[in-house]
Parts: sequence; structure tokens; C-alpha cells
Amino acid sequence: MPLMKPLTQEFSFLGFGKHRSSKFRFSKLLPLLLILIAIYLFLELAWPKRFLLPVLFGESVFCVNTPDKVLALTFDDGPDPVYTRAISQILLDYEAQGTFFVLGKHSEKYPQIVRTLQKQGHEIGNHTWHHYNLNSKFNDTIYQEISETDILIDKLISPDNVYFRPPFGRAGFAVTNVLKQIHKPIIFWDVDLQDWHGKSAAEMMKIFENNFHNGSIVLLHDSDGTAKKGVYASRHNTLEVVEKILKVYTPQGYEFVTISELLKRGNAVKVKERCFQK
Ligand SMILES: [Zn+2]
Repeated sequence: MPLMKPLTQEFSFLGFGKHRSSKFRFSKLLPLLLILIAIYLFLELAWPKRFLLPVLFGESVFCVNTPDKVLALTFDDGPDPVYTRAISQILLDYEAQGTFFVLGKHSEKYPQIVRTLQKQGHEIGNHTWHHYNLNSKFNDTIYQEISETDILIDKLISPDNVYFRPPFGRAGFAVTNVLKQIHKPIIFWDVDLQDWHGKSAAEMMKIFENNFHNGSIVLLHDSDGTAKKGVYASRHNTLEVVEKILKVYTPQGYEFVTISELLKRGNAVKVKERCFQK
């Protein structure tokens, strides 16, 4: 009986021995692979400014750099028979224009609202068909969600151009790449009034006053919803804050325009942090 086990047997867990090269390579590669997965998950899910990927690899718009007193109010998730109509009436009262990022499934149900919005001078944008988090979908589904909604919008109002905003503002590698292929920039926002979070009209007005500037894109919602953690996100608050904003700022010379019009007034700002100059 030998006094010592052969070296290869003793240290086989380190990758020495018969299968040395493959085990060695794997043990070296595993930490690297884990680091790459961690970086990917961080960028996709946990990065506080979750807009990094479209900023780096795609075309994103957060606001417009302009000396003009112009702003774009945008409304996601509609059309809704109650709230979209109410919002369009308020906009009409103040001769303001807005952009409605509609869902395909809602537009199919309420086609007349989409047509009326266009007749009143508002812009219709694409917010996908179902409102899935596209980061959890494969390329085929992402493409389908966007193209089917585009086809419906085209059938209803034949617009020259349809801008796109991803649900939840989430655009990872796959979403960014699909949009690049179909030559659509991603329209984000620089002022989020958090009506999706159940904020009161007064709270939203404060957020607006503290954050808006010339060329801002303001995020709002015109479809009924329940906010995170079960807080009911009343769209009545959205109606109230839209009216307040228009009532206070229209007499001060501010103009509320569509995304297309806003983009004509200045250069698109691709990084959100560069939007905060009053
Ligand atoms: Zn949405």
C-alpha cells in the first residue's frame, strides 16, 4: 500500500489529472460567467436609471432642448371610454395638444376614440398590443406586439409616423434591438407625475412645478388602473392635474404640443440627466 495517494488523485478537485484541461477551463470560466450574468441582470432589472441600454445602444428621447416654452403631455394605456374622452375635452378647452400612447387591445375596442383624438389634432403613439413587460419576451413577440398595434393604428387613422413607448418604460437588449431594426426611437419622458402610483392632484402639481422645463415630456395615464402595492390609481386625479397645469401655465405662454411638434422645436435629448435645465 503506498504511503501517499498519487498527486493527481489527491488534488483532482482542482482539475489536475486525467481531465485536467476541461475541468480547469470550466472552473476558470464559471466565475466570469456568473459576473457577466450578474452585470446583465443588474442592467436589466436593478439599474436605478433603467434606461441605460437604449441610451447606449438605441435611439432614445427623454426631452427636447429648446428655448421655446413648449411641453408635451403624454397619456399611456388608453383609449378609455371615460378618461380619454374627459382628457381630450380638457385639452380642447385650453386649445392644447397631447400624445396618446395607446394599446392595440384598447384601440380595437374603441376605434372611434382613436379617430376622434386624431381629428382634434392629437398624436397617436404605439404602446404595444397587450402591455406586457417586453423584457420578459423573445424577439418574435416583441416585434408582433409593436407591428400589430402599428397596423391597427394605420388602419384607423393612416398617420405619417407612429412613435413608440415601451410598457413600464422597460427596454432591455432585445427591445432596443428590435426598435433599432424597425427604425423607431423610444419616446421616454423626463417628468413622471406618478399618477400610476396613486398620487393626489396636489402632489402631482408639486412634482410638475419642481421638474418641468422648456421641452419637457410629461408622463401621464388615461386608462383606469391600480397602482403598485394595491394603491388605487384614480384617473380623476390625472384629470384634475391636467386641468391645473393648463389653467396655470397656458396664460404664462406655455404651449402644449404633440411629440412630433416638440421634436421640430429643438434637438432630442438622449440622456435623462441632461433634461434638468430650466
Ligand atoms: Zn403603460
